[in-house]
Amino acid sequence: MLNWNLPYITDEHRSLAALMKDFCEREVDLRALNDLADKPIAPNATPADLRARLPLDLLNKAHDAGLRQIAAPAKFGGGGYGEDHVAMGALAETAGYYGGQFGRLMTIAWKQMAAFEYAPEEVAKEVIEDFMNDRTTMMAASFTEPNSGSDMLLPYDEPGVAGQTLAVKDGDDWVINGDKMFCTAGGVSNYITVMARTDPKGPISKSMTQFLVNTRNPGWSVTRVNDNMGNELSSNVQMRFENCRVPDKYRMSPVNGAFEVGKSRLAGKTAHLFAELGWTERAWEDFKEYSKARIQGGKRIIEHNNVGMLVAETDCLIRTLRLFLYNDAWEWCGEGRGQLRDPLGWFYANWYCKKVMWRVFEAGLEIYGGLAPSRELNFEHFVRVKMSMFHGGSTGLLSLVKAAKVIAGQASDAVQET
Ligand SMILES: Cc1cc2nc3c(=O)[nH]c(=O)nc-3n(C[C@H](O)[C@H](O)[C@H](O)COP(=O)(O)OP(=O)(O)OC[C@H]3O[C@@H](n4cnc5c(N)ncnc54)[C@H](O)[C@@H]3O)c2cc1C
Repeated sequence: MLNWNLPYITDEHRSLAALMKDFCEREVDLRALNDLADKPIAPNATPADLRARLPLDLLNKAHDAGLRQIAAPAKFGGGGYGEDHVAMGALAETAGYYGGQFGRLMTIAWKQMAAFEYAPEEVAKEVIEDFMNDRTTMMAASFTEPNSGSDMLLPYDEPGVAGQTLAVKDGDDWVINGDKMFCTAGGVSNYITVMARTDPKGPISKSMTQFLVNTRNPGWSVTRVNDNMGNELSSNVQMRFENCRVPDKYRMSPVNGAFEVGKSRLAGKTAHLFAELGWTERAWEDFKEYSKARIQGGKRIIEHNNVGMLVAETDCLIRTLRLFLYNDAWEWCGEGRGQLRDPLGWFYANWYCKKVMWRVFEAGLEIYGGLAPSRELNFEHFVRVKMSMFHGGSTGLLSLVKAAKVIAGQASDAVQET
């Protein structure tokens, strides 16, 4: 069970978590969601095919309960909690714990609300209201390219290196050309924030601009659906931009200033980690219960030290991850929008979350014995999906590379922010 006795968690946060718990217990059928995500997916599936994989009935109900739009600004009809990172953490952790894939589905759209911070008010209003009216849509963000994955996240900042998608100004529009890779929910979103080079020669930190692409306009297409061993409900796609015109008012950062605004999004990104934390806590809870029920050698396997110690070790790891994430979220709450708090916070959160999950995979595999890969258990779905998502947000090791540069005093401001 989740424990809400942390100093940062207020009664209001507890009520939000209780609302999410009630919703999940009432509406989420874990097995049905897993089966939906596991349906075969064709590499050439169309956006319409991908939308058909979304649990639309569940999203509709989440909307009616105020949860789908809870991070959107109140002035546009949202819940107004996007800036309360502890609240968003509690909601995401609870959704991950009780809802598995549903938690991730929620945080994908929640995270994107911060992207409208630098958009003109009329654009933010138009897009967020459209998101709320069209309940079949998600939100997506696209940085990664086929030839620039980690490089796009700035471990090094060499002039002209990384990022080949170009945006060129033409009158009042920008014209985008290039390929993008690994975009979560890219095929099921009406709007995607896209990072493109606006200076072909400069260092990436000073050459990228962020645009909002309306996928109902010409010039955008899904070129391949990435079929993983554990797919997310929202799918992960490759995309092409071919003379895709974006009016300047849909520019979401200063020209060549995408990394300046990126720092304000880091707090929102942590919502994904909270959803992973919740799902991991659930996986732990399940194998702990199993270890108390399974009898071998004449006693419950938890009473065998090799098993008992694994249960305790993973409990300790999960608790420390939880403290780390809530502390990080709480510290973000004290910062104004666009501020950068502790540059190491996100790097460590990203690395440590993966580390803990990996150990939970190992523990479950040992504790369930031969049953571990059985489709009777939710554990195998958890492992497949989490392994498939492992590098989302950057590899853990790359986060440590950047942390080391910050510690050594070698990191540029831009490196500190991503
Ligand atoms: C499920 C999933 C969802 C994703 N969602 C999105 C999304 O919504 N939007 C988006 O834009 N991207 C998304 N990504 C992409 C993700 O951010 C990248 O996969 C990640 O940044 C790593 O890039 P890469 O896969 O190209 O690996 P590579 O960059 O090729 O890395 C391969 C290996 O080389 C190492 N390496 C690479 N460069 C360096 C370096 N300079 N110094 C030291 N080591 C290095 C890496 O640590 C890694 O071990 C997603 C990925 C996954 C798997």
